[in-house]
Amino acid sequence: MEPRILGLHHVTAIAGQARRNFDFYSQVLGLRFLKKTVNFDDPGTYHFYFGDETGSAGTILTFFPWEHITPGRRGTGQATEIGYAVPAGSLEFWLQRFEQRGIIYNKPAEKFGEQYLTFLDPDGLKFELIVPKTADPRTPWTTADVGADVATRGFHTVTLTLANIKATAEVLTDVFGYRLAEQHVNRYRFATDAVPTANFIDLVEAPGEARSVTAGGSVHHIAFRVPDDAAELHFRQKLLAKGLQPTPQIDRDYFHSVYFREPGGVLFEIATDNPGFTVDEPLAELGTGLKLPKQHEHLRAQLEAHLPPIPAPLVR
Ligand code: ZN
Repeated sequence: MEPRILGLHHVTAIAGQARRNFDFYSQVLGLRFLKKTVNFDDPGTYHFYFGDETGSAGTILTFFPWEHITPGRRGTGQATEIGYAVPAGSLEFWLQRFEQRGIIYNKPAEKFGEQYLTFLDPDGLKFELIVPKTADPRTPWTTADVGADVATRGFHTVTLTLANIKATAEVLTDVFGYRLAEQHVNRYRFATDAVPTANFIDLVEAPGEARSVTAGGSVHHIAFRVPDDAAELHFRQKLLAKGLQPTPQIDRDYFHSVYFREPGGVLFEIATDNPGFTVDEPLAELGTGLKLPKQHEHLRAQLEAHLPPIPAPLVR
């Protein structure tokens, strides 16, 4: 059988202060802090991973925190909103939590028949908490004050804002096996039936909008999930046949990656399930040690002295 794209794998964004980023996602949003490592291409900065207990594909949110980064600007050629699935009845909890903590949010609205609440993280990265039409069956990571009745389940949708959606839509349909599921004005929802969750991409066509600037508070890239290396190489061939320019397969320690710039300007990645986050730490201890890619291990003493301190994550 032909391999399929299994929805979203992870989303990677750019943050400012590392400590503030750590606090927001592990405490306010209540995600599990899965991994503390460094940027492969810039080992003087962290790379943080958040998600569910095991770091399941479709729940993984990662950040490059640069302490003094200037803010980016939302616009075309960018993933502009990250949508999480949350349980029915939980929006009031989140709204109050954001209100109490001075987090910028909008009052709940509805699109495609689903209620959602928009908020900004401390760097201005935009999120939506969405109550899906059918309850999301994934088991959430929970904390002392974010229980299973309100906790995020993982990704629901990522929204791309584009000057013209045509060529991007073709990558989704012709290469990735998505189909146009719904449309409202200039928002086009694409879906795959290969998986029941993390399976939507919304394309918003906004020809009049300015081009985005990718910096603090911007999504850096979005990654689609494949089960293994063979499936990844299959899709790499399909991208080449479509005239796109994927990178060779790259070992990212926790998954294997192929990157390409889709025609609308957004950086896409295809990432494998293998080998996963327990490759260098046991499940119970994820996120507790500073893990370095082997080519940067010789820099450990220097990096430990220079990287901003991050407290030990909460582990259940
Ligand atoms: Zn990535």
